[in-house]
Amino acid sequence: MGFEYAPAPESRSIVDIKASYGLFLDGEFVDGRGSSFKTVNPATEETLAEIAEASDADVDLAVRAARRAFRGWSRMSGKERAKYLFRIARIIQERGRELAVLESIDNGKPIKESRDVDVPIVAAHFFYYAGWADKLEHAGLGANPQPLGVAGQVIPWNFPLLMLAWKVAPALACGNTVVLKPAETTPLTALLFAEICQQADLPPGVVNIVTGAGGTGQALVSHPDVDKVAFTGSTEVGKAIARAVAGTDKKVTLELGGKAANIVFDDAPMDQAIEGIVGGIFFNQGHVCCAGSRLLVQESVADEVLARLKRRMSTLRVGDPLDKNTDIGAINSREQLERIRELCEIGEAEGAERWAPACDLPSSGFWFPPTLFTGVAQAHRIAREEVFGPVLSVLTFRTPAEAVEKANNTPYGLSAGVWTEKGSRILHMASQLRAGVVWANTFNKFDPASPFGGYKESGYGREGGRQGLAAYLKGAEA
Ligand code: NAP
Ligand code: MG
Repeated sequence: MGFEYAPAPESRSIVDIKASYGLFLDGEFVDGRGSSFKTVNPATEETLAEIAEASDADVDLAVRAARRAFRGWSRMSGKERAKYLFRIARIIQERGRELAVLESIDNGKPIKESRDVDVPIVAAHFFYYAGWADKLEHAGLGANPQPLGVAGQVIPWNFPLLMLAWKVAPALACGNTVVLKPAETTPLTALLFAEICQQADLPPGVVNIVTGAGGTGQALVSHPDVDKVAFTGSTEVGKAIARAVAGTDKKVTLELGGKAANIVFDDAPMDQAIEGIVGGIFFNQGHVCCAGSRLLVQESVADEVLARLKRRMSTLRVGDPLDKNTDIGAINSREQLERIRELCEIGEAEGAERWAPACDLPSSGFWFPPTLFTGVAQAHRIAREEVFGPVLSVLTFRTPAEAVEKANNTPYGLSAGVWTEKGSRILHMASQLRAGVVWANTFNKFDPASPFGGYKESGYGREGGRQGLAAYLKGAEA
């Protein structure tokens, strides 16, 4: 078992959560015309704030504001646009602690992740695309690259601020204006980002934030004056969006689900592999589209890997997201918790064996212990469907060819991991795996300069890197 740690809570006094929030339209916070909903702290079930639910009319106002702002923003020189993006990036760094605490409160993720992963990568993304804004003609995407117009962007709850950054930074760098809808359960950091846009003197209408649920997202993506739709979320909603925009000339990128294989060969650096398996599936409570949710381990080392993995899992600390020692925070919503529980019950009913370390869970809030399943067959639902929680399915293989076949036996194709000492095997596996990202001897590493995106039902288009610019420029293919 692990050490006992004294509580080390991060103070929440740095954040100022208002009782209620309106929409961010045309540079101002305004009351919505629709109804409202509550966002809660998933670690305590405490209501944090009342949030406006944007109606169709509100979405229309936002798109009109973005259209008006597009004239000036798209004609501004890239160098001028870059100044705003650099300014936003710097303010994100300055207000990093506030953003991290707010993200952990609204989402449930551990403060050490929001502080050391999410927020730094958010700032890095704005710095990175600020650097492109005056160099677009050198990006290999045409001699005179032109923005698309108004981008309607819809994001999920697992990385609220990071997904915002992935969408807003390249759009603005290329001269587009945006209307963004955050997820219903995690609107607060997007609203704080709106304040940052005001602080940076971003021209009104360049960024608009419309809070709401699925209906607001639907109104946004089907608005006739939206030129570009960018969506991150479930494959199911992604398909609905693809249908909604079919027959229009909207440009679309979809970042959808995944069921990544994390493949451990018998010659893998074992200490690092165990950490990589743990980080691959338990980072962000497993609410990660590219999570290494299927562990494929070579049969000859399977017993050793499992024994070490269980020992390591027994030291993971589950609890208060604001405690600096917490490894696994709260599940984002009751709905998601129910889905994780249901899929785990199905896993047991289908004959896989479930294991979790002894773990004291808080009495209120939404929690799930780090869990693994052995004896998993490829046909089991826990091996095929995205659990989107801290649940690992373990399968074995004997040869590299078998590992490739099992890894690719999924409707998804977002990411994969390979653990081996052999460089030639890494290159061979990377060429065989049908996944947008392949990590070697590491997992879940993100950098603004690396493109990210999927094959098959994981979606299409790339975010990040030079390739990420293509999604926001006319006629460009990455
Ligand atoms: P989701 O239900 O698809 O929701 C994503 C966003 O779409 C939310 O803002 C949601 O609003 C909105 N939405 C729902 N129905 C809509 C509709 N008909 N039209 C337009 N927008 C609509 O997904 P989620 O449960 O939030 O997120 C989990 C899923 O996202 C997982 O499957 C995960 O793999 C995937 N994901 C993929 C990536 C990637 O980069 N590939 C990254 C992160 C997550 P409300 O939530 O407010 O209802
Ligand atoms: Mg919330």
